[in-house]
Amino acid sequence: MKGPGKPHVAAVPFPALGHTIPILDMATLLASHGLTVSYVTTPANVSRVQQPILEAAAKGLDIRLVVLPAPAVRGLPEGHESSDQIPAESTDLIRELAEKLQHPLRPLDRAPIRRRNPSAVATIKFVLGRFQSIGRGSGMLINTFHELEPAHLDHLKNVTDKPVWGIGPVFPPSGSDKVSVRGKMADIGEEELIRWLDSQSPRSVVYLSFGSQTYLTPQQTNALARGVELSEQPFVWAIKIPPRIEPATSDSASFARRYLPEGFQERTKNRGVVIWGWAPQLLILSHPAVGGFASHCGWNSTLESVTQGIPLIAWPMYGDQPFNSKLIADLGAGIQFCQYRDAIPNAERVKEVIRRVLIEDKGKEMRKSAEKMKEKARITVEDGGSSRADLQAFVNVVRELHTKLGKNKK
Ligand code: UDP
Repeated sequence: MKGPGKPHVAAVPFPALGHTIPILDMATLLASHGLTVSYVTTPANVSRVQQPILEAAAKGLDIRLVVLPAPAVRGLPEGHESSDQIPAESTDLIRELAEKLQHPLRPLDRAPIRRRNPSAVATIKFVLGRFQSIGRGSGMLINTFHELEPAHLDHLKNVTDKPVWGIGPVFPPSGSDKVSVRGKMADIGEEELIRWLDSQSPRSVVYLSFGSQTYLTPQQTNALARGVELSEQPFVWAIKIPPRIEPATSDSASFARRYLPEGFQERTKNRGVVIWGWAPQLLILSHPAVGGFASHCGWNSTLESVTQGIPLIAWPMYGDQPFNSKLIADLGAGIQFCQYRDAIPNAERVKEVIRRVLIEDKGKEMRKSAEKMKEKARITVEDGGSSRADLQAFVNVVRELHTKLGKNKK
């Protein structure tokens, strides 16, 4: 954050898609409130973020892209990076940026951006370090909203004794090219997919997708497919193939042979769409035909589902996902059918939860609760809503700090 001129903030997401996407949306939101934002990322993420940053700049927003160098890592396919091998040039660049913003890093801040350290212990220390840094910051800006998790936000405020600004749900500015932000689809065109969804009844389709970095094994996919087939409900399913397999067998027929029960696609061709790879998730979830979302409960997917009023059919795997699944179940807006990354789902259970969420009377209350959360998510970002108020409060704090730094310089 500089003295004279406009307040300038740096947005430094962890370089994985589940972080680069929402932090870019957040950066755009902050820039639309008059801040200059330096958005820091690595080469593998540039193609995903460049277009929306150009679009934002064309609208007069001041977002700058800062690309950190990332080394080629032996054993990883081209275009892939290891997020735990941060080269020295990158840490120097982040430090330079922080100094430019007149916010020199304190000694403890330096330890998470330590030079190359590929061990798992370092990763755990990194996460712990982030939590410790909460206490040393001026506050926390979070992509959530008060009505979704009031107790958690209040608890964070109490334990840190700092402001906690819940400004979510934060999404791309309306009208932006969502697919180019999030990647291109293989196999089926976006228009064809939308046409197919248009042909389905309201809230009748289950969408299945487990985030940007979870690859189900052929055995897990097969079990899930049996449940999907037994449910007899329409579906859209984004199946991710690990990059080490993708180049070797890169056509959908061979993926289907490896991952799906024999004849699955033929038998379900009139009521289902399989997308091998990246799906335009927001576009799908915001379509009125979609009525259930089978998800790993990554935070972004959870928020996207809540915002669209779609009950979650949860298979949390690790990290925060079990907590997110519980949060949604406690709100009555979802149901868990499986847990852990290496579990094999039970096909009968899959069938049961899909039918409950989409069509059965037993799922009526859940559908209502999801609709109620949708309404709360809409109101919170409007004038008078808590997320709108928190966003304004954060921008005010940044402006005050900016003015103070300017005065100190004189
Ligand atoms: N996403 C998408 N298409 C896909 C998979 C994921 O657009 O095929 C987006 C999804 O909308 C969400 C993000 O990628 O915004 C995934 O983040 P999340 O926190 O749900 O899971 P993660 O990928 O971090 O495990």
